[in-house]
Amino acid sequence: MKTIKVSFEDSIAREVVETGKCVGCGTCVLVCPFGCLEYVNEKPSLVKECKVCGICAQACPQFEFPLSEIENFVFSRERKTEENFGIYRRLALAQATDRQILKVCQDGGAVTALLLSALKNGFIDGAIVAKSEQEKPFYPRPTLATTADEILQSAGTKYFYSPNILAIAEAIKQKKSSVAFVGTPCQIRAVRKIQLAGLKKYVAPLKVLIGLACSECFVYEGLMENHIHGKLGVNPKHVRKINIKGKMLVTLDSETVAIPLAEAKQYARKSCHFCEDFSSELADISVGGLGLEGWTFAIMRTEKGEELFAIAEKAGVITTRDASAESNALNLLVKLSKKKQAAGKERT
Ligand SMILES: Cc1cc2nc3c(=O)[nH]c(=O)nc-3n(C[C@H](O)[C@H](O)[C@H](O)COP(=O)(O)OP(=O)(O)OC[C@H]3O[C@@H](n4cnc5c(N)ncnc54)[C@H](O)[C@@H]3O)c2cc1C
Repeated sequence: MKTIKVSFEDSIAREVVETGKCVGCGTCVLVCPFGCLEYVNEKPSLVKECKVCGICAQACPQFEFPLSEIENFVFSRERKTEENFGIYRRLALAQATDRQILKVCQDGGAVTALLLSALKNGFIDGAIVAKSEQEKPFYPRPTLATTADEILQSAGTKYFYSPNILAIAEAIKQKKSSVAFVGTPCQIRAVRKIQLAGLKKYVAPLKVLIGLACSECFVYEGLMENHIHGKLGVNPKHVRKINIKGKMLVTLDSETVAIPLAEAKQYARKSCHFCEDFSSELADISVGGLGLEGWTFAIMRTEKGEELFAIAEKAGVITTRDASAESNALNLLVKLSKKKQAAGKERT
């Protein structure tokens, strides 16, 4: 990747923020060596004069993303045309065996089970996850979890944007060296771009990347406050789970309220529609629900991803099934990957 000395204003501000492509991942804020950027309202904000080092542009996943170079860097080859959802080594369906995890997780609880077994085994020394704010239910806060309790408390999907990249600063501060990073496709792309650029300090704490499948994130004020609270009269504190299975399903203590997806989509974050990556194609392991009930669809893409999965399998904390048993899920994965690739390309 070529190193260019370009200012924040002439790169990210003009070509990413002003064009609406900024996903708000916070990567530029993390890597600015002069502390010129702050994270304000899900966007970077220049608070000091830019020193024109160009590092933010080298790291931003929405500014000149060198996909082929990164595929070569991660997988030592580029994807073949028929590899619709990226390169992988193994597909499996996974379900946590621990009832405590199954009570709080999103789909099969594979992510939480993987993190817990890896922490216990010493494979990782922490995990960057998204914890729900106490006073603002389902509003995610990027968190470095270093205990089993913290990992368990962070289980479950928050459909709102969590700039987990920002929690890398805490991992650096705590001198961690084997952290599992859980993130959306845009964040996995950001980590890979930082790695490719050789900005070692920022990725040194990370050992393995768990990428979530993601069609889009939603705006909290629109979906939770205006629609779920305002229109449907449901107090966010009474919501136990939000999931998407054809419709958006809002689970309360004694009932589940369905919101047609077309209605929910009015609250989707506009920047998500520039994204070409549904299944976190550059992660070590990717996971998604893909219409399954109580199971996580797992895509092991790298040796490290396979190793993480094998630790959980060996410890008996997940049960697994062959992914070919669920052809609908696999078809959906292909369909949503192609749809996002086409839509993202059309908009950029
Ligand atoms: C915004 C969003 C959109 C998604 N869209 C789809 C989709 O369209 N199709 C699909 O098949 N799957 C989608 N997923 C993935 C799916 O919801 C589950 O995360 C996945 O199946 C893993 O389930 P699990 O039970 O194994 O995870 P769990 O064991 O419940 O663990 C989930 C992990 O994800 C972390 N997390 C939760 N919310 C966020 C967030 N906003 N940002 C970063 N990390 C987070 C948690 O802290 C936890 O570590 C989406 C996830 C998110 C966050």
